[in-house]
Amino acid sequence: MKYPESFLKLVEDFKKFPGIGKKTAERLALYTISTIEKNQIDAFSQHLVEAKQNISHCPVCGTLMESHCPICEDLNRERNTIMVVSEDKDVFVLERNPIYHGLYHVLGGSIDFSRGIGPEDLNIESLFQRLNGIEEIILSLAGTVEGELTAQYLKELLKPKGIKVSRIAYGIPVGADLSFADDHTLELALNNRQKYE
Ligand SMILES: [Zn+2]
Repeated sequence: MKYPESFLKLVEDFKKFPGIGKKTAERLALYTISTIEKNQIDAFSQHLVEAKQNISHCPVCGTLMESHCPICEDLNRERNTIMVVSEDKDVFVLERNPIYHGLYHVLGGSIDFSRGIGPEDLNIESLFQRLNGIEEIILSLAGTVEGELTAQYLKELLKPKGIKVSRIAYGIPVGADLSFADDHTLELALNNRQKYE
């Protein structure tokens, strides 16, 4: 006997999440049906729709935003420095504490030829459209092979622009990303950033 049709649809939905295989998807679907209250399910489905509807990426810096970008619109921030990060979450990790006061640019990933991700798949062109008045670009990319490759690529492109390029030196293991660093480590890394050449 097969699972009911609606149940199978739910399993297919859960399988769309990264790291969720068929077995986990079935377990989550069973839990949803048998344990979660109807009103909680209603709220959850509403949150999904609302989040997808209201959240977008800032057309300038690429940060996740709801109706307006709190970073680009904040006139108290230093507007001559851009920190380039790979992922949406990196901005939120850095913003947990007032360590950095400049602007951001979210690439939306790293160059990874083994997965078919080239420079044209990242928000690189939009970075070059906002260099007017910028004095320093801080590359805050993970110490992975992909992060290094992306940093080098950007450095070469930025060279002829005459803008200072620095690389954040965070004291965390190679391969780890920003979210593993505590605030003190991030602050040290930012203050000890090296000119990247
Ligand atoms: Zn923005």
